[in-house]
Amino acid sequence: MNWWICSECDYVFEVKKPPETCPSCRKKCVFSDVTCYVPECGGPGNLDMKLVATKAKAARKRVN
Ligand SMILES: [Zn+2]
Repeated sequence: MNWWICSECDYVFEVKKPPETCPSCRKKCVFSDVTCYVPECGGPGNLDMKLVATKAKAARKRVN
């Protein structure tokens, strides 16, 4: 299982492969993999909050 963040609404969810449309905003979004791959956030299977923060920030920048 991987963690993904929606480029449109910053919705974060856990699923093997991201769906075509976001379960939250129901748009066709780009999903970024925010799964943890380093020991600092607990390793595979966990959510990397640092990645989430950077991805969410990038999403807001595009809107503004
Ligand atoms: Zn969304």
